[in-house]
Parts: sequence; C-alpha cells; structure tokens
Amino acid sequence: MAKQLGDLQVVVDNVCKSFGSNTVLKNISLSVRHSEVVCIIGPSGSGKSTLLRCVNALIPIDSGTIKVAGIEVNDPKLDELALRRNVGMVFQSYNLFPHKTALENVMMAPIHVLKQDKAKVEALALSLLKRVRLSGKEHHYPGQLSGGQQQRVAIARSLAMSPQVMMFDEVTAALDPETVKEVLVTIRDLADEGMTCILVTHEMGFAREVADSIHFTDQGRIVESGHPKEFFSNPKDPRTQEFLRQVL
Ligand code: ADP
Ligand code: MG
Repeated sequence: MAKQLGDLQVVVDNVCKSFGSNTVLKNISLSVRHSEVVCIIGPSGSGKSTLLRCVNALIPIDSGTIKVAGIEVNDPKLDELALRRNVGMVFQSYNLFPHKTALENVMMAPIHVLKQDKAKVEALALSLLKRVRLSGKEHHYPGQLSGGQQQRVAIARSLAMSPQVMMFDEVTAALDPETVKEVLVTIRDLADEGMTCILVTHEMGFAREVADSIHFTDQGRIVESGHPKEFFSNPKDPRTQEFLRQVL
C-alpha cells in the first residue's frame, strides 16, 4: 500500500550559502511532506551537512528561504528554541554525557531546557528507550554500550523533545559494521511510524528501502531528484551515474 504523505513540513527554496569565497550551497530547493523520508546522497564535500545545519539554523543562510513546521528559519526574530524543539538532529558523533546513564541522557533536555516535570519525563524517556530497542539498558553508562547502542540513545535523546522532523547526518558512518544494522532498523521503525525524516547516508541499500524520495548533491547543487526505484535503476545525470558506479 502506498504511504500517505501529509502537508509540507520543510520547504527549502533557492538557498545559497558561502563560507568566504567557497560557495557551498547553490540555489538549493527541496520540500519534505509530513511522514516523508527524504534521503540526501552525494560525494563528500558536496554540501549535505551544511544543508542540514541550515535547516535547523545552526548556520545562517545567505539567501533564499527555509520554512520548517511553519517556522521561518531565516526570520531575524527566529525563536531558535522553538525551531530546535521541532527539528531533531542526530550526528555521526553521538556525544552522550559519559557520566550519565542512558536514561539520564535522554531526560536531560526535557528537564533542563523544557523544564518539564521529572516523573513525566522519566516515563517518556523509558518509553523512548523501548522504542529504540534499548529496554534493559536504561541504567547503563555510555562506556558500557556499543557504538550502535549509544547512537540509539542519541536518537532517543532527540525524540525526547517531540520533534516534528528528524534529521540524521551519516549516523552510521563511524559505527562497527555489526552495529550499523540495529541503528538503521531503529530509523526504519521511526519512518514506519510516520516520522518525517531527512537522512544523509552512504547506505545505498537502506536509502533505496526507506526513502520516498532521493536527492543527489554534487558541488553544492541538487543535480538529480527522484523516487528511489527510478533513481537507482535509471539515474539520468552523468554525475549520479558515476557516483553510483563507485558506491554500488
Ligand atoms: P558534506 O556533508 O556533503 O560532506 P559539507 O556540507 O560538510 O559537505 O561541506 C561542504 C563544503 O563546505 C566543504 O568544502 C567544506 O569544507 C565547507 N565547509 C563546511 N562547513 C564549513 C565551515 N563551518 N566553515 C568553512 N567551510 C565549511
Ligand atoms: Mg557531511
């Protein structure tokens, strides 16, 4: 059965971004609907991480517009907290607090940033750890967990802010091969539950399986977009063809 996609949740329109004389994003436009899983793939240095960072206002854009869950990201009066509550971001390096347990790591932001009630937050955190398949590990410290387990704690930590959109930036790139799969399964679970996801990944098989649409970036531009089936079986742009030849 085809997945039902909802309203537009993220709209990136004609965005440009330079660092000094290095133009990293060149007229980037893309949109993401509620429950859609969008994968961004492309060579290293093509601007993928920069794009994600612009979407949650970690870095400012030079021109164009970005709208997330109704919030205008480039509005000078932007409420950054409101934006970051709506957009969860998980990076390659999970950076958990080493002296806090898995449960405490997940509870931190709702208690300290959102000032929510501790008992309520604990119940939420326990359910999130279950959702990322870490029941039984609640009281483990990061050093007692595998890389894949730590990354799933990081995902639960992001989910604790009840985001509308989750962004994943090469979250399995630093993991041992045997723990990559468990993190991908967690992301697939979220996607299946209808979470809107923007995913930068080098896991082509996974992108093909979970994505509703794929964007291929090269040198700061989206050079090809499409449905995964079409994208992988019949890439049109020579740069996409070359990239896929190298990675598949
Ligand atoms: P990708 O994630 O696709 O590998 P990035 O978005 O990390 O690409 O980087 C795109 C380009 O922007 C690279 O040339 C990188 O050196 C440059 N870049 C990224 N972040 C910064 C920064 N904070 N300051 C200066 N240059 C940056
Ligand atoms: Mg990157």
